[in-house]
Amino acid sequence: MTAPTVPALARPGFDAELAEALLTIPVVHPGAQRHASIAPFDGQPLVELPYSTVDDVDMAFDTATQAQARWAQTEVAERRRIMLRFHDLLLAHQDECLDLIQWETGKTRMDAMKELLGVCTIARHYARAARRMLEPERPLGIVPLLTKVTIERHPVGVVANIAPWNYPLFLAAADAIPALMAGNAVVLKPDHQTSLTALYAVDLLHRAGIPRRVLQVVLGFGPELGPELVERADYVMFTGSSAVGSRIAARCGERLIGCSMELGGKNPMIVLDDADPAAAAEVAVRACFDNAGQLCVAMERLYVMADIHDAFMERFLSRIRNLRMSAEVGWAADYGSLIGAEQLGRTAAAVEDAVSKGAEVLVGGRSLPDIGPFYYAPTLLTGVTEGMQVHGSETFGPVVAVQLVDSEDEALALANDSPFGLNASVLTRDERRGQRLARRLRTGSVNVNEAYEATFGSTRAPMGGMGRSGLGRRNGAHGLTRFTEEQTIAVQRGIGFGTPFGMEHDAWSELLVKGFRALRRSGLA
Ligand code: NAD
Repeated sequence: MTAPTVPALARPGFDAELAEALLTIPVVHPGAQRHASIAPFDGQPLVELPYSTVDDVDMAFDTATQAQARWAQTEVAERRRIMLRFHDLLLAHQDECLDLIQWETGKTRMDAMKELLGVCTIARHYARAARRMLEPERPLGIVPLLTKVTIERHPVGVVANIAPWNYPLFLAAADAIPALMAGNAVVLKPDHQTSLTALYAVDLLHRAGIPRRVLQVVLGFGPELGPELVERADYVMFTGSSAVGSRIAARCGERLIGCSMELGGKNPMIVLDDADPAAAAEVAVRACFDNAGQLCVAMERLYVMADIHDAFMERFLSRIRNLRMSAEVGWAADYGSLIGAEQLGRTAAAVEDAVSKGAEVLVGGRSLPDIGPFYYAPTLLTGVTEGMQVHGSETFGPVVAVQLVDSEDEALALANDSPFGLNASVLTRDERRGQRLARRLRTGSVNVNEAYEATFGSTRAPMGGMGRSGLGRRNGAHGLTRFTEEQTIAVQRGIGFGTPFGMEHDAWSELLVKGFRALRRSGLA
């Protein structure tokens, strides 16, 4: 462990003592290199973080491997108590937690609150549902009554959890929770830009009762620590870009270990001609500009049917122009900062590229240095065509291409014309029409008359992407069982499968065929 560091600047609402305490959590060797993280609200250093080395990653895995065997022996009821305690701790410390998230990410307090509530939803869900999901199953065996089959679920071992910066509290906890509930140890590597918030989540989990050795954190740059994490893990839980995710998945394939890949999107929203223009505009603002568009399930493509186009766009533009912005901790803002200079540069470059190739800016299209160093205005473009970056690549920022369409089928074809397949949204007054269209969309989730919260927050249902948006699903039963190895145990009673002594093979085979016919008639198996 290193000595705690001192935040570079004191700010209102930033708890320096809390930050120091959190820096005792990561696995780092004495004298570790330190790197300053930047507060997006003012662009100044927030805190110096000690970075782990590859040897530290090894140490974290060695410790976690030892501790996991014991953790796997704990009763699920005990894990449930811990997770519910964590849930309550998070709600009790919400102000402290929201302050920290805002300082570290520059997001609005409402966006931070959604993270916090999302974690609570997942903690409550898996605390209560894990027992049922982990219970041995008893399916019918090959010979009913004589073959007694049990499916056991064992933890996979140590899960490497690699998380990005955009929802640092949620993504530090959302996958660790089911992994821990299933009896695994977890080594978490948060993004280097948002490590404090991840450490905060881990601290509360430790305080709730998760042994420190069972949940460990390493800090640093992904390309430096990532390969060792993937090499040592029994399962890799990755959330991040499709480019990095596909490389990690390839290595997991070589090692023949399981992995989940929660990756990027280029999500379409379809505004059908029967939608209520005002309600649709309200949803569209959140869908496109929550978390300043730095949200995997945010909409970057908007297809609006001709009959509603003008009425919808008038309201949408007015709602965008009235978004309140301020670079400070608190509830005052509707729209927040980008995470940093790199993200600002990427966003501005994508818009410049589109404009230089003929796209038109309907609103936004510029940075907002008067508000904060990394603010970029919520931006709508029209006339986006193939060959522009914003056409097919994820911007992961507040930039949306709007296109008028003449029919539902045209909207559907355009929406599905993407290698990604994460989330989609359909706005209509007719629920059934919305559902029918949803079934034809090639995305892992579709929200009818909502942006993303309806699917994302429904933790009993799976969430994840098709195509380049990922592999596997979080949430639902699979969100927990993916962190287990299934084992089938069959106990055979009475007669076995060999030809009985004294009987010829053909006679035995005839008997077996009769048995199969009887089973077919019985409908049992
Ligand atoms: P990224 O892939 O660059 O980084 C994500 C994490 O991976 C970070 O912790 C990073 O340090 C680490 N990393 C980077 N290179 C690595 C390597 N070679 N080996 C191992 N780890 C490595 O992604 P990003 O730009 O930080 O995050 C934004 C992306 O994440 C967007 O594409 C967004 O859509 C996606 N995302 C997806 C979801 C989802 O649930 N589907 C949620 C949030 C974000």
